[in-house]
Amino acid sequence: MSLPMLTRFNHLPLSQKILLPFFLVLVLLGLTATIGSVQLTSDSLSESIDQQLDDQHSLLEMAIKNEEQRLTTFANLLVALSPDDPEETGTIPLAAHLNGLSSQELSVRIWSEQQIGSLEQPQLKQMVTHARRSGRTRIRFFPALPDSPALVLVKPLKDTAGDQRYIMIRRTLGQKFFRSLMKPSRGDCHLLDRNGNHLVSNRPEASPPRLSADEISRLIAGRRVNKATATTRTQFFAVPLGTSDLVLLGVSLPTRDLGMLVRSLATRSAITVLLALIIFGYFFLRFIRGQLRPLETLLQATETVSRGQLDYRLPDLGNDEIGKLAQSFNSMVSQLDELYKEKIDQQRQLTEQREELKYRELLEAKNAEIERANHELRAHLKEMSGLFQLNRAMTSTLDLGILFDRMMGVLKDLIHCDRMVLFTYNAGSEELLVRKTHGIDPELLQGMTFRLDEGITGKAALTQQLLSIPDLKNDKRNLGYKGKSHSGGSMVSVPLVVKKRLSGVLNLHKIETNAFSESDINLVQAVANQAAIAIENSQLYEQARSLSNTDELTGLANRRHFQMILKREVAQAQRYHSHFSLIMADIDHFKAFNDTHGHLRGDIVLKKVADILLQNTRGIDLVGRFGGEEFIVLLPKTDKLGAEAAAEKLRSCVMNDSFPGEEESQPNGTLTLSLGIAEYPNDSKDIYELLDLADRALYRAKEEGRNRFVTWQAEMHSAV
Ligand code: GH3
Ligand code: MG
Ligand code: MG
Repeated sequence: MSLPMLTRFNHLPLSQKILLPFFLVLVLLGLTATIGSVQLTSDSLSESIDQQLDDQHSLLEMAIKNEEQRLTTFANLLVALSPDDPEETGTIPLAAHLNGLSSQELSVRIWSEQQIGSLEQPQLKQMVTHARRSGRTRIRFFPALPDSPALVLVKPLKDTAGDQRYIMIRRTLGQKFFRSLMKPSRGDCHLLDRNGNHLVSNRPEASPPRLSADEISRLIAGRRVNKATATTRTQFFAVPLGTSDLVLLGVSLPTRDLGMLVRSLATRSAITVLLALIIFGYFFLRFIRGQLRPLETLLQATETVSRGQLDYRLPDLGNDEIGKLAQSFNSMVSQLDELYKEKIDQQRQLTEQREELKYRELLEAKNAEIERANHELRAHLKEMSGLFQLNRAMTSTLDLGILFDRMMGVLKDLIHCDRMVLFTYNAGSEELLVRKTHGIDPELLQGMTFRLDEGITGKAALTQQLLSIPDLKNDKRNLGYKGKSHSGGSMVSVPLVVKKRLSGVLNLHKIETNAFSESDINLVQAVANQAAIAIENSQLYEQARSLSNTDELTGLANRRHFQMILKREVAQAQRYHSHFSLIMADIDHFKAFNDTHGHLRGDIVLKKVADILLQNTRGIDLVGRFGGEEFIVLLPKTDKLGAEAAAEKLRSCVMNDSFPGEEESQPNGTLTLSLGIAEYPNDSKDIYELLDLADRALYRAKEEGRNRFVTWQAEMHSAV
């Protein structure tokens, strides 16, 4: 069998695969047995027919021989008993009776010579002639004598007178003869003439098959001829008669029954085999199924496990190969289960680690982002607060000197510059003049000028663009303030420009290289813009000489302006929920000074005290002259404690500073201040009341002995 044919059976269940070859072998065996047995039966039946035919043949042959013998015996008997009377001729009926036959079947006659001459049949005459010549008994077969076939015996009979007579015995071989012979048999027998023509049979309807000339000659030669039709089998043969004659006979037996028998046998065999196959197949299948059941359990287990149910275990399947396979399977699945759990564990850990790592990375990224945002926020805050402070500083004074001082103070705080140089631009001479310095001795750069194309400062002024020099040593334009200051580190040179009009240049220095960050530069630019505006304003103001906001003597904000700023501060503090403090200051025993040294020297003292107040307050603080020798300081975002520190600082600065003529006029020999503090919004939200409270605290300080500060307390209400 070729492989593709075999693969066709691969999909069949195992039980059927096992059963199928057995079944095929059994079918083949059944077929072989059936065919064999049918063949055997058919052969043996056929043989038995042949045997029966042979038996019939012998019977017939013997019957013919018997008849011949009997005729001969009759003839001899008649010779012995024959009367000598030569006249006696004719039929002898007795003979037939002796034989138990009718006269038609057997006739015995004695013929005289003359009577022979009158015989009509030439063959009979010839026969008699032959008998006479030989003097011996002759026996012959006549197919039609005159109408039915018969055996005829002629024996010459000599009487005493020497006259020739003949005994003639005729035995008719008619249907009756053959019927009596064939009575016990199922078959038929047929008598034929020498040409093979059918003469008579035991039954009127029976007829033998036709014989060919060749077959007839074979019969005459003494051989048998067998012929078969669909329903019969016939054996032809010749029975020798006398010395020269013969009788052709045939015996037939029906074979139709044989075919039926064989067919029924075949059918029964086939049914038996089929039944046997079905019964065997059923029981064998059940048996195989029983044997394969553990295998099916194993298969189901494999499928269950393959679906991922690793805790599945097979039951005990016995001790045979399948049982051992089941045990191996169970141990294999156990190992697999452990391995799987281990793997799951590892995977979980791995996933957890990955998640953790991811979250950590995410967290770090977020932190970095927050840090960056914070940094930016801080920078912005710094920038904003710087600008706010500067704005405040700018708005708090119109004195360019003070304004520059404050601007530089703010920048120093915010950007932590080591050195700063401020140039103002004189449009008439087209020169930049050093106006203020920080971190450099002012004496060194006093009166120094730069042309518009000279050095880095000149370049920034000319282009009206901010220049950032990360490393001064690498910049050829660097002149190091014409050799007056060391020339290392980094620098930013920013022109102060409003509406394209240059009003100055601000240089900022740091010792380190690359020290200015982007936000620093942005801030510097913003400050410069702001400063430029402030300078412009100041210049305009100075030009207009508008004195409405400033106290002429001290340059501080006057009472009106101070109150205006104070209102703005209250609005701000309200909006941002912040606070501020006020310090009201009054020079002690000033009347005495005036009285001793005169008003002019008194004015100088007033101016100096104002300067001390300005110098020792923050850039964003606002210092004003409230009237006479009274000053007021606004401290934004400052609570009482902060204000007390500021008041104490101012008090000690004034006390420690020397005022020419103070020894003579002042009771303690030194000029001092008394200060009163009030805080917004804790003490009051109303500015007039707040000013009043600060004043009342100041009054208390006077009362308590001067040269001190007093902070307003709620309890003072009752005291006052
Ligand atoms: P105390 O405050 O310690 O109680 O004593 P005091 O002497 O300072 O008291 P008081 O307030 O009475 O004196 C104020 C003096 O200040 C009166 C006035 O001569 C002087 N004064 C006010 N305005 C000016 C000014 O513009 N120039 C000068 N030189 N003196 C002024
Ligand atoms: Mg006073
Ligand atoms: Mg006073």
